[in-house]
Amino acid sequence: MSDYKQTLNLPKTDFPMKANLAQREPELLKKWENLHLYAQLRDMGKKRKKFILLDGPPYANGHIHMGTTVNKVLKDIVVKSKTLSGYDAPFIPGWDCHGLPIESNVEKKIGKAGHKVSPTEFRKACREYALTQINYQRAEFQRLGVIADWAHPYLTMDFSFEANIVRSLAKIFQQGHIQRGAKPVYWCLDCASALAEAEVEYADKTSSAIDVRFAVVDEAAFLARFQQAPAAGKGPIAIPIWTTTPWTLPANQMVALNPFVEYVLVECDGKERLLIAEPLLETVLQRYGVKNHRILAKTVGETLEHISLHHPFYERDVPLVLASFVTVDSGTGAVHGAGAHGVDDFAVAEQYQLPLINLIGNDGIFTEDAGFLAGQHVTKVNGLVLDVLEKQGALLYATTMAHSYPHCWRHKTPVIFRATPQWFISMEKKGLRAQALAAIKEVQWVPDWGQNRIYSMVENRPDWCISRQRYWGPPIAVFLHKETGELHPRTQTLFEKVAELIEQEGVDAWFNLDPHTLLGAEADHYLKCNDILDVWFDSGVVHECVLRQRPELHFPADLFLEGSDQHRGWFNSSLVSSVAMNGEAPYKTVLTHGFVIDVQGRKMSKSLGNVISPETIMQSLGADVLRLWVSSIDYRGDIFISDEILSRTSETYRRLRNTARFLLSNLAGFDPKKHAVPAKKMLALDRWVVDRARLLQEEIIQAYETYQFHTIYQKLQQFCSVELGGFYLDIIKDRQYTTPTDSLARRSTQTAMFHIIEAMVRWFAPILSFTAEEIWHYIPGKRNESVFLNTWYTELPALKDTELMNQAYWENIRLVRDVVNKALEQCRHAGQLGAPLEAAVHLYCEPALKKQLDALGNELRFVLITSQAEVHLANAHMEHVQTTDMPGLWLTIQPLITVPKCERCWHRSADIGSHVQYPTLCGRCIENIEGAGEVRHYA
Ligand SMILES: [Zn+2]
Ligand SMILES: [Zn+2]
Repeated sequence: MSDYKQTLNLPKTDFPMKANLAQREPELLKKWENLHLYAQLRDMGKKRKKFILLDGPPYANGHIHMGTTVNKVLKDIVVKSKTLSGYDAPFIPGWDCHGLPIESNVEKKIGKAGHKVSPTEFRKACREYALTQINYQRAEFQRLGVIADWAHPYLTMDFSFEANIVRSLAKIFQQGHIQRGAKPVYWCLDCASALAEAEVEYADKTSSAIDVRFAVVDEAAFLARFQQAPAAGKGPIAIPIWTTTPWTLPANQMVALNPFVEYVLVECDGKERLLIAEPLLETVLQRYGVKNHRILAKTVGETLEHISLHHPFYERDVPLVLASFVTVDSGTGAVHGAGAHGVDDFAVAEQYQLPLINLIGNDGIFTEDAGFLAGQHVTKVNGLVLDVLEKQGALLYATTMAHSYPHCWRHKTPVIFRATPQWFISMEKKGLRAQALAAIKEVQWVPDWGQNRIYSMVENRPDWCISRQRYWGPPIAVFLHKETGELHPRTQTLFEKVAELIEQEGVDAWFNLDPHTLLGAEADHYLKCNDILDVWFDSGVVHECVLRQRPELHFPADLFLEGSDQHRGWFNSSLVSSVAMNGEAPYKTVLTHGFVIDVQGRKMSKSLGNVISPETIMQSLGADVLRLWVSSIDYRGDIFISDEILSRTSETYRRLRNTARFLLSNLAGFDPKKHAVPAKKMLALDRWVVDRARLLQEEIIQAYETYQFHTIYQKLQQFCSVELGGFYLDIIKDRQYTTPTDSLARRSTQTAMFHIIEAMVRWFAPILSFTAEEIWHYIPGKRNESVFLNTWYTELPALKDTELMNQAYWENIRLVRDVVNKALEQCRHAGQLGAPLEAAVHLYCEPALKKQLDALGNELRFVLITSQAEVHLANAHMEHVQTTDMPGLWLTIQPLITVPKCERCWHRSADIGSHVQYPTLCGRCIENIEGAGEVRHYA
């Protein structure tokens, strides 16, 4: 037996089967760094149209987690695919660096500012702390394979950024949107600070729920308000209210009725008379345990306006007011109001010109004005209030109830509404709300429900409280007149001067500023504002401080891409600030993704023990598997992760990698310059497969453009396993291995494989960035230094629909092949057959199908991978023939066990042994070894 193995063109490549990503990926990162890849990309993009994604800054605290990973990888996929589509798509990563979480962490280390350390030292420590956090987050993001300007990120604590925050504030002042005033805001007692809307979360809380009598001061005047004189009744007259916040009663300044609701005056057990909303009468009387009652009169709320009531425990009277927010869902239909502790109450107090009663300090302690409550902490006074009500005979009923209540997102403790002197961006003063709502409609929201979501949030959001009484942040850099409280008349000029100082020295320039340097002798009449800005303002003006400042970017951004909680957060703050400054939204498109949860639908948390860390996955499976997982999810909904999901993703990764490897291994010795076959000379099957790749590429580009990455994942998987693995690559192995090295038959399939890997490596690149880069350098032919320095592959020749062997034709052939494979498999199971090459297949067809199969001539057997394939016209005598799943097709399988097997190609052939020199070879192999090589046209 001779060794014919050397006469075969067997696959050969150094491209490793084992990915070994944990080791290989860091090497590729180093390579990109040495190449200055990001700078090269910008050079390359100089004349291109720009696509600007603005990176929403993660907060500089803690390691990256699955949520931040998904977000950054999605952004990276967008940017890389846009580059492949021929855009210049810069990626400037950013960090949010000021704010309370950093202050809290620094406090834990060095103590509170103004106590153990000076505010200046404290801020310095905050800056250093933020920087360490950024440095390790940056390394982690880089490790994910995200290609961005990591050497020049934007930090909201950069001096220039801080200066531009002040300039942004100046612009909003100039547009007249800023208001100063005491308004109720969410206040966290643990933060000792106002909270932003987005910093509040709702959780269940058990509160006291009490009913309190407000006695009518002048009963005759009260009774005179009824249209029909009330029937005589016994006992004092009172209006009961119901509240779940007894601690707000000290600040009570009114009782509100709904102007349009019917109220009844009812005598209860002959002891007292109460005014109760009619729809609630029964439940209220039941609650108070009233046995006998008698309705004395009826009236609508509006007739009782301005009636005076006694405060239940302080020596003062409060008015009855009218408010449409009062409902009859629960309570009594009368609501106690404290302008300092509720947004609705505040508005009503303003309408009735009732001065705010503010009894609680920043520390949550009641002030001297609170009388017997002075010095008490707000969380401790409910009991005292109940006691005094009891003593005064004002308590009608007391119980507890669980309800949904706002909590601080950091401390998880209940927050209070509290009026403090603050700075606001007014949503109404200059029509900002209406403008912002109009701007929302100009933006494309993906998925489209995002539009309704942000619309209703902007529609309902209160004025934006932008001031904080903390240390670590840019200042509200204004001077206020000591007597009048008015802004300095040159406020705009002063803003710019301060910004210039901050540009040099950071925010300390303001806090350490002696006002005389800017104001001269005038300084004695002015107070320097010491408030800092809400940290959401910093990130909210990234459009101004980054988009408009960096020359490689432009305003507005083409895309914002963040988690769906940002409709309330960053999308919202960016919109409001940009509309206030520019009259338009800072983005053209906003894309949102869901949250990462485990398969049971639970959030990742340390206490549940279900945390999967990106770090661990990168060190075991590699960043590319993590990236592939990100691409596989339909991110519009919940994003599920588990070890099992990841192991399935690894499986897919291996399939994709092996497909690429198989293509590369068959391109050994192929020089595209010398060996590539022009499209019209290529074999029909090869032309089909490159056309299939071309069509797939159109779908993939379309999916990248519409951000539907999970469909790309599915299409890649399908193409590699079904069209290539299960069909094309299976068929061409014989031709690739057995025909002469330089024959057209072989060069044609190599050309097809070359085209496919050239296209495929680019399809992979945005997702499997490391693997694509690795593949890139194994593809034959001269090429540049990185796959990322390229655009989509455009050399995929098209197959015309008018050709006989078009897509539809091959689709049909694939169906025939599936039918034949099934029959061969059955024979193998029945023990009639080993390999398919031991078989001859006889196909009986309707005329149309026969014509199609005949077109392949003698090459049909190569498509079916059988040693013989014959086509017959279906006829009336087919008793011995099997029916199939395919209409119009019948077949028989005939084992060729007795026919000799070619030692080289393993086909069964009757002519083996007829050649003296090669007694074990078939004629085809002899022709391929010795002659000009067999001629193939189709497959
Ligand atoms: Zn808090
Ligand atoms: Zn042979």
